[in-house]
Amino acid sequence: MTWKAKNNIIQGLSRNSSRLKRISDAFAFARDGRVLKGTLPISGFERLHDLLTEITGEVAYHLQGFKGERGEFMLRLEVTGTLPLACQRCLNAVSFDLDVDSLLELVPEGAELSQDELEDDTRDFLPLASELDVAEFVEDEILLALPVAPRHEECGLPGAADAGDRINPFAALSGLKGKPN
Ligand SMILES: [Zn+2]
Repeated sequence: MTWKAKNNIIQGLSRNSSRLKRISDAFAFARDGRVLKGTLPISGFERLHDLLTEITGEVAYHLQGFKGERGEFMLRLEVTGTLPLACQRCLNAVSFDLDVDSLLELVPEGAELSQDELEDDTRDFLPLASELDVAEFVEDEILLALPVAPRHEECGLPGAADAGDRINPFAALSGLKGKPN
């Protein structure tokens, strides 16, 4: 997905979101070197729900604004917490420790980025008009940090005993094939 498309989705979701925790001017937030931190309930991250075995608990976030070497407006977002991801083999919970540490460069919405900028893997851009929905932003970064196919390192060994006869046939098949992917 392009950064423009992603931003359009974020903008669309933000309009419908009743969640608070907004920074009205993210550029000023960065320029002034401000910090925002707190916790957010996992129940508020609706795009995560299908990936979880239970929807409880919260994550802690720390958002720091600053100006980069070129005078660019930067945000550093750190998110920690533990998510009970559904194992792709047995569907039981795999405890996943979140350790998000993202650095994003704010750019005005609609600004054209040069080809060099777009292809620079060391820079991540976040196009914004001005307002930043913090919960939406945290959710985006959590989604990017999750494993594509979470599963237990030794899935099926202790789980099989617990589950009795209700062993997922696909899980058993995966076990025979070793570790796909
Ligand atoms: Zn498993």
